[in-house]
Amino acid sequence: MAKFKIIYERAGCIGASACAAAAPGFWTMDEAKDAKADIIKTKNPTKLTNGNEELLIDEKDLAMNLDAARACPVNVIHIINLDTNEKLI
Ligand code: SF4
Repeated sequence: MAKFKIIYERAGCIGASACAAAAPGFWTMDEAKDAKADIIKTKNPTKLTNGNEELLIDEKDLAMNLDAARACPVNVIHIINLDTNEKLI
C-alpha cells in the first residue's frame, strides 16, 4: 500500500535531468515535447490540469525518489508521507 506521494510541479522544471539520473526508473526527459521531466508513463502518474503530476509510491521506492527530489536544482519535486502528512521535501 502506498505510503508516500510525489508531487511534481512540472511548470517549474528547467530540464536539468538530475531527477532522471538519480531515479531513472521513475523519471524521464520529454525530449520530443519541451525537454522537461515527466514521471514515467508506465508508473501511471495522475496528471492535473495545472500541469502538475502526482504519484503514490511505496517505502521501497522512497530513497531513490528522495535522491531525485534533492538533486533537483529548482525544488519542484516534493514528497509527502501520507501516514503523517509530513512534507519530506
Ligand atoms: S531535476 Fe528538477 S529541473 Fe531537472 S529535470 Fe528533474 S524536475 Fe526538472
